[in-house]
Amino acid sequence: MNIIIFGPPLAGKGTQSKKIINDFNLTHLSTGDVLRNEKAKQSDLGLKAEEYSSKGLLVPDNLVMEIVESFYFNQKEKNNFLFDGYPRNIEQAEHLINFLEKDKNVIDLVIYLKVPKDVLLERAKIRAIEEDRKDDTNQNTVLTRIDEFVNLTAHAIDFIKKQGITTIEINGNQSVEEIYKIIYQKLNNLESEKS
Ligand code: AMP
Repeated sequence: MNIIIFGPPLAGKGTQSKKIINDFNLTHLSTGDVLRNEKAKQSDLGLKAEEYSSKGLLVPDNLVMEIVESFYFNQKEKNNFLFDGYPRNIEQAEHLINFLEKDKNVIDLVIYLKVPKDVLLERAKIRAIEEDRKDDTNQNTVLTRIDEFVNLTAHAIDFIKKQGITTIEINGNQSVEEIYKIIYQKLNNLESEKS
């Protein structure tokens, strides 16, 4: 099964993804993590991406499309992916669906974590300290990231829903365990349907 997890910044995608990959043995692709690693290595890609990420903006499509496609085609088993942070706009959604289709593959489920803006801003203050994330420290940057989600990523979710892909929307303003319980049940059912 292939899954996309969506949500605004600080919705808890990373936390839930860790639990999912652990229990369901999925291959995790977080474009945000890849870009942070590239930045730590000071690679051309990392430095280029940082010009945008440090302002809270999405990095150009060509950079992330290349990351995702090469990651996918470099895996031995091209199945059981958890896409986290990709796609972020309609162009990326089309790109993902198209290259999966060429490989006779599909997205089975979309998980969408919904969290109100005031809660996201509170979480940013906490994560800035706990995880030393520069993009959480500046409130304007956090607001820009939330705007990017509303203006671009939300449309990608609608686009994907229109393709008929099952989407579960979860109130992300609950405890990690409560959210995961809903996800776990859904994935368990999906897994049994597929086997
Ligand atoms: P994340 O950890 O998913 O919140 O991503 C951190 C930052 O990396 C974002 O604010 C963007 O600047 C960049 N980024 C991650 N994934 C993408 C993507 N699919 N498209 C464009 N930029 C991305």
